[in-house]
Amino acid sequence: MSNIGVLIVGSGPAGVAAAESFRKAGGTSAVTIVTTDSSRPCFRPPLSKDFLRGDVSASEIELHTAQWFSDLGIELIRDDTVVSIDIHAQRATTHGGRSIFYAQLILASGADPKPLAVPGGHKALPLRSLHDAEVLRDAASGADTAVVVGAGFIGCEAAASLAHRGIATTLVTPDQVPQQKRLGFSAGERITDFLSEAGVQYVGGVKVSAVHGDSVRLDNGVSITTDVVLAATGVAPRTELVARTGISMAAERIAVDEHMRTSIANVYAAGDVALAINRIAGRRVLVEHWQDAITQGTIAGANAAGESSSWCEVPGFWTTIGDRTLKYAAWGDGYGRARLVEKEAGFSVWYETNGITVGILTLDADDDYAEGQNRIRSGAALPW
Ligand SMILES: Cc1cc2nc3c(=O)[nH]c(=O)nc-3n(C[C@H](O)[C@H](O)[C@H](O)COP(=O)(O)OP(=O)(O)OC[C@H]3O[C@@H](n4cnc5c(N)ncnc54)[C@H](O)[C@@H]3O)c2cc1C
Repeated sequence: MSNIGVLIVGSGPAGVAAAESFRKAGGTSAVTIVTTDSSRPCFRPPLSKDFLRGDVSASEIELHTAQWFSDLGIELIRDDTVVSIDIHAQRATTHGGRSIFYAQLILASGADPKPLAVPGGHKALPLRSLHDAEVLRDAASGADTAVVVGAGFIGCEAAASLAHRGIATTLVTPDQVPQQKRLGFSAGERITDFLSEAGVQYVGGVKVSAVHGDSVRLDNGVSITTDVVLAATGVAPRTELVARTGISMAAERIAVDEHMRTSIANVYAAGDVALAINRIAGRRVLVEHWQDAITQGTIAGANAAGESSSWCEVPGFWTTIGDRTLKYAAWGDGYGRARLVEKEAGFSVWYETNGITVGILTLDADDDYAEGQNRIRSGAALPW
């Protein structure tokens, strides 16, 4: 049994940023992070890019050294999972038998990949943790062929990285073009071009119906023989811990205000598991992005130390597919109209709703990206 100040569940960017900012804001009580991960916290974005290509090693993508944690007085308990929380006793219990009393609790348990829900779908590899990435990279090292299921950013990035290794890679998705719903048809066509440049065969408009032996069966009757199958079929927030705690939920995530406070005093949530109010947007905004997890974790940690910080950034992320880096900033909850503008070296796609700028996607157009962020933040109209 131990007694601590701040208990943080999860060692992703939200959890680690929360611990760091608690200290930076002057928090002096003990800080403990409990994580299911067996490895020290790492950058996830390279897992589908440089790491999968084989360009960086696991040690090169560590977030911080062991010394960093010890210098900041942050205890990192790895390879253990918080299995229950007693809100009234302010106590967490772990799978490994630990019982930890806390003064403040920060839930940063992130998300898990959704399994490929078809017969034999369990044979498809997931990609979330460093361990997942190591398994995938090992499988890829002996492979001639790969099938990636799903054309979200992780699917597109991973497919391009597998193709870069010389593996004949097919990306299968029900979407005619990648991310048509989120980014629009024109942007999706450009992403299809990037995939093709990277050597990926894009098979849109079909669903996987089964994985059987070494073949992936599609609902149009075609079977693809493959050495590796990757399921890039989205993520589900890890909220099982909050069941029966009385903590309020919204859209299957932990509902928090702009300060990352849950409905229970002294309990915060941040990152992919949370659904936070963005002060500028004036509403809850769903994000599953690296930098936003850091921002939200930083806010939760600072507020746990007594500050009053709130979420007022425009969310966004960068993604690299082959050699192309797209930058996206948006509220992310839909748009009325999208307009693609050709630029000297790349392009920009502007998104608007009722005359207000709500998103920007750019390739090699940083001036538009900065301008778009400003317009989204201020609720301004499109530039024309
Ligand atoms: C391959 C890949 C590439 C990506 N690339 C990009 C990118 O280029 N740009 C971008 O913006 N975003 C990217 N993302 C998304 C980004 O990594 C996530 O949005 C971000 O990691 C979310 O951070 P988080 O701290 O909320 O959760 P996570 O990073 O999921 O961390 C959650 C942590 O909680 C732990 N945990 C869960 N439940 C428990 C429990 N009960 N007890 C103890 N520990 C628990 C987990 O083990 C994990 O350590 C990528 C993600 C992946 C997987």
